[in-house]
This record gives sequence, structure tokens and C-alpha cells, in this order.
Amino acid sequence: MRSLLVALSGLLALAADAPPKLLPEVRQRLDADMDRLLAFYKDLHAHPELSLQEERTAAQLAKELREAGLDVTTKVGGHGIVGLLRNGPGPTVMIRADMDALPIVEQTGLPYASKVRTRDRFGNEVGVMHACGHDMNLACLVGTARVLASLKDRWQGTLMCVGQPAEEVGAGARQMLADGLFRRFPKPDFGLALHCDSSFAYGQVRYREGQMQANVDSVTIVVRGKGGHGAAPHITIDPIVLAARIILDLQTIVSRETNPVDPVVVTVGSIHGGTKHNIIPNECRLQVTVRTTTDATRKHTLEAIERIAKAAAVGARAPEPIIEVDPSEFTPALFNDPGLTRRLVPVLQRVLGADNVRERPLSMGGEDFSLYGREGVPTFYYFLGTQEPGRVAAAERSAEVTLPGLHSNAFYPVPAPTLRTGVTSMTMLVLELMGKP
Ligand SMILES: [Zn+2]
Ligand SMILES: [Zn+2]
Repeated sequence: MRSLLVALSGLLALAADAPPKLLPEVRQRLDADMDRLLAFYKDLHAHPELSLQEERTAAQLAKELREAGLDVTTKVGGHGIVGLLRNGPGPTVMIRADMDALPIVEQTGLPYASKVRTRDRFGNEVGVMHACGHDMNLACLVGTARVLASLKDRWQGTLMCVGQPAEEVGAGARQMLADGLFRRFPKPDFGLALHCDSSFAYGQVRYREGQMQANVDSVTIVVRGKGGHGAAPHITIDPIVLAARIILDLQTIVSRETNPVDPVVVTVGSIHGGTKHNIIPNECRLQVTVRTTTDATRKHTLEAIERIAKAAAVGARAPEPIIEVDPSEFTPALFNDPGLTRRLVPVLQRVLGADNVRERPLSMGGEDFSLYGREGVPTFYYFLGTQEPGRVAAAERSAEVTLPGLHSNAFYPVPAPTLRTGVTSMTMLVLELMGKP
């Protein structure tokens, strides 16, 4: 009797671990689309556009979604795209992918590498590169839409595909919501997104239940001085030296003012001042990214930056610095809805194999997908592996080998297997939420 029970529970466990029954069909549909999706991906990769300039990307996405049979609306909150596939009564499931690239000169050496140069919004000439993998996120969105469109008899509800602009500057989700994303279109019952990750192998995904990423604030500090001749510093107030002092003083916010168990990051990512060796300029401009996980540490860190910059200026006899915290670039922390996470993770495990689905620690990255969750939509966001497994293993073995991170000029996903995992996993998640029993 006992052995019968053991055998029975073994069988049940096997059934729970078995791949979902639609998986072979999903794979088959995807195989038929792979060439087209890879061409779409490589075209996007070769033609990246900066945040708020995603005109061509939006047009290409709109075209693909229309051809997949979706009802597409363009120019939602800037270059945003909304594609709807209405398929009877049932839940509305939103899948969102981001569209913008970064001001980086690509150095991957890929045959489809970007050679694009453009002007950023400050008028500087910059290279442009999909160094965060948003081109892959978009290809996964299109692939998922195509597979689901070809399997319409297997699910019911409304699929809502969103191409979101300006993720890198934290503006796109806010703009789309302000332009009626959840008023002009059905408010989703669930929101899903995936994003490339540079640190683990294709075929795998990573998630976290609850808080997954940090609050993000962007602070600009204009350090003011009094310009003059570089050979006569005594009759000037040098804003370059003062900026250097401020940058070092800011390091004490994390090391001396914050409880060590509360994660905080203060990074000065840009410093610009002066034009020539022998001229002391009037001002020097710093751009700072601030990452926190709670409202309290956020408030304290922003206050400390202001206090430290102003105090350093007093010490240098300089005018008070101008400090701007751009509210339009604030992105709240990203949360994965616990109930939804517990429903979807077993699906990922059955599709990809339990070993390929791992929980990851909290990251201090930011992601404006969080804003959809703040509107009351239960959301689930996960990371997609992109790297050759051998390369990841080599990096784990030796400190000499490093994998280029996201936003690096050398980052790129291995296209076909990354795309395959992204489309298969996302499609199966949607089918879990909208599939017919
Ligand atoms: Zn990014
Ligand atoms: Zn990104």
C-alpha cells in the first residue's frame, strides 16, 4: 500500500513537472518565424535610436504587430505603440518591451553592429547602441505576438502589446500613462515584461518575488565658481577643484551616513566643465544617479547630496551650487506581485527546466515598468539570459575573464537562443493567464 502511494505521488510530481502540453506547438510556430524575427532583431540592432527619438523603431514595431494581426495605435505618449489582439471574453494581459538605445559607440565587432551617430538632446554628437538589449526585448515581444496570433483557438481574452519609449531616461511609462494607456485601452488584469541580462547563459531566466529593483533619482549639480586665467587661480574661484571635492564628499553618504544594511548607491556619472587648459571656467556640471530601496533612505540621500554640495561651496567661498532633482526622471522601485509570481514561476520551471529558473538578489538597477504596477496592475518582470554558457563558465572560473555588462560597448546577446528562450517563456506565461482549460 505504502509503495503504491509512493509511486502515485511520484507520478503526480512528474505530471506537475512535465512541460505544458502546448509547448511543442509553441516551439513549432516559433521555429517557423525564427528567420523573420532574427532579421527584425538585427535590423533594430543596426538602427538604434536614443530615448525620445524612437521614431523608426516604433514604425518597424507597428508594422510587425500589424502584420501579426494586431490592432495597432501609434504615438501613445510620444513614440509609444499599443497593439491589441482581441480574442473573446477573458483577461487582458499586457506585455511591455522598451524601445530606446544608449549614447554609446558600439565596439562589439558584430556584422550587424550599429554605426549610427546622432545628436543627443543637449546637442552633443554621440554614437548610438542597443547596449541594454531593448532590441532583443522587442524581438521577443513580436515573436510572442506572432505565436499567440497563430494559436488563437487555444486562448481567450485580450493580448495587449506595448512598445514603450524612453525607458533609459525613466520617462516613457509615465508619458504613456499620461496619454491614457489605461483609459484609451483596456486596463490590463496582468502586466508582464522581460529584459535581457548580461551575466548569465541563454536558456535561463532570473526573477525575484516582491521588491526586485531600486528607486532611481537623477540629480544635476551645477557647481558655480568665478572664472579667470589658469595662471592666476588666486583671483578666481575654481569650480573644477570644488567639483572634485564635492564628488569625494558625496562618497561619505553611503560609507558614513547610511545604515550599512540599507542599500544605497550614489554615482557621479558625468562631469563637465571648462573648454581649455589655461582657463578656469565659471561652472562645472555634475550628473548623479541615486539608487535607494525605501522612501526614508531616498529622502535622506537626496537631502545629504544637497547639504554636502552647499557646505563644500561655503568652504570654497563659492556661490551656492544649483541642485536639481528632476521629478520626471524619478522611477519608483520595481515590485513583482507575490501571487502572480507564485503562479508563473512554476510555469517557467516546467518550460525551461527547474535548474534554469533561479531567484536573484535585489538589484539597484531601475526600471519604469514599476509605474504600471503602481497603477494597480499585478506585474511580473523577469530577466533573460543572453550569453554563451561556455563564456559564463569561464568568467565564473577565472577573475581574468569578465563578461561585458549591460550598457557596455561590448555587450551583445547571442541572438537565436536568447530569442528562443524569450519568446517561449513569455508565450507560455500568457497562455497560463489566458489559456483555455
Ligand atoms: Zn538600460
Ligand atoms: Zn534596459
